[in-house]
Amino acid sequence: MNLHEYQGKEMLASFGVRIQRGIVATTPAEAVAAAKKLTEETGTGWHVIKAQVHAGGRGKGGGVKLAKNLEQVEEIAGQIIGMNLVTPQTSAEGKKVHQVLIAEDVYYPGDNEPEEYYMSVLLNRGTGRNMIMYSTEGGMDIETVAEETPHLIFTEEIDPATGLLPFQARKIAFNLGLSGTAFKEMTKFVASLYKAYVSTDSSLFEINPVLKTSDDKIMAVDSKVSLDENALFRHKDLAALRDEREENPVEVEAKAVGLNYVDLDGNVGCMVNGAGLAMATMDLIKQAGGEPANFLDVGGTADAERVEIAFDLILKDPNVKAILVNIFGGIVRCDRVAQGIVDAYKNMGNIEVPIIVRLQGTNADIAKELIDNSGLDVQSAVEFQEAADKVQAVLA
Ligand code: GDP
Ligand code: MN
Repeated sequence: MNLHEYQGKEMLASFGVRIQRGIVATTPAEAVAAAKKLTEETGTGWHVIKAQVHAGGRGKGGGVKLAKNLEQVEEIAGQIIGMNLVTPQTSAEGKKVHQVLIAEDVYYPGDNEPEEYYMSVLLNRGTGRNMIMYSTEGGMDIETVAEETPHLIFTEEIDPATGLLPFQARKIAFNLGLSGTAFKEMTKFVASLYKAYVSTDSSLFEINPVLKTSDDKIMAVDSKVSLDENALFRHKDLAALRDEREENPVEVEAKAVGLNYVDLDGNVGCMVNGAGLAMATMDLIKQAGGEPANFLDVGGTADAERVEIAFDLILKDPNVKAILVNIFGGIVRCDRVAQGIVDAYKNMGNIEVPIIVRLQGTNADIAKELIDNSGLDVQSAVEFQEAADKVQAVLA
């Protein structure tokens, strides 16, 4: 589960991470009030208005703008709130902006130039350890840095038995070329950031840029925080920060009815019981030359009601041109599933794509007969490969 920038920053601040301060607003009037309050608290005259959507690259898409007075705060907030923000990380339609963060301008000029660094904390799945990834080349696409100048990206792995050790934080500050106050600030920043990562059971932090201000403070200007959903049960406060408006609506609906659905780009809808069989089914569809439109595990009970809910979810995706049902009847009897499919099909009355059904296990032969004699645009298959081939045939 992802947090908004402002939510991530507030959480980080609660662990002692220095952040660019800000107040969230949903209307231009609230934005002006927020800017006034920030001026009182921080003395800043200028403010940055930042679209709060779950996507990076907002700066490039016109979702991050500097306001030099309150009139500009009102005007820019008015432009950004309600817009469909298109960034390199969104779809072509973009993401609707419901709220903006009014933040203090921290790029104030001084003797030293402000410097932008990149820092992330994530799990290295190869070694099974957390690591801090960092670079002097912050502010820009880290993907480009990784491609063109990979030697400018450093990593520091953390031993779970000891946690982050002080020498590691110093090494990071040193590799970033810091000295004096900024060096000390960075070691504190890294230690607090790592503490926040572990304490919140996060799966990814990405802070780009981490800023060295002209007066040598180190702070998070941006935050991307992904929490491990499997650990949310022990972080009720963080779980409450979920913003369903940012998530795929079909996935949200599926979750509400207890189904495991993940939206994908292809055109073959999949309805399968068991996550392993669902993965194998997607593999087979690909091997046969198709592309799965979704991952869907309908679980143990595949009665008419459940099948109908599943069909309904799958068909919400306009790209779906065929549906492959692949169910193993162990505890659930195949004939009951087949009857469920036939009943759901008739009951819905609006299914316009062909359905291929493969049922294996208890009473599979009765199930096949039920499907074959249904008179509907539903084909049965016995073997896995046969099912995938039939799907390709109806798409051709
Ligand atoms: P992203 O584009 O979605 O990653 O959003 P960021 O929060 O990283 O902001 C994009 C860019 O806006 C940063 O890289 C900065 O260059 C700029 N920016 C952010 N905060 C400030 C600020 O306080 N003052 C100025 N002048 N620029 C800022
Ligand atoms: Mn950023």
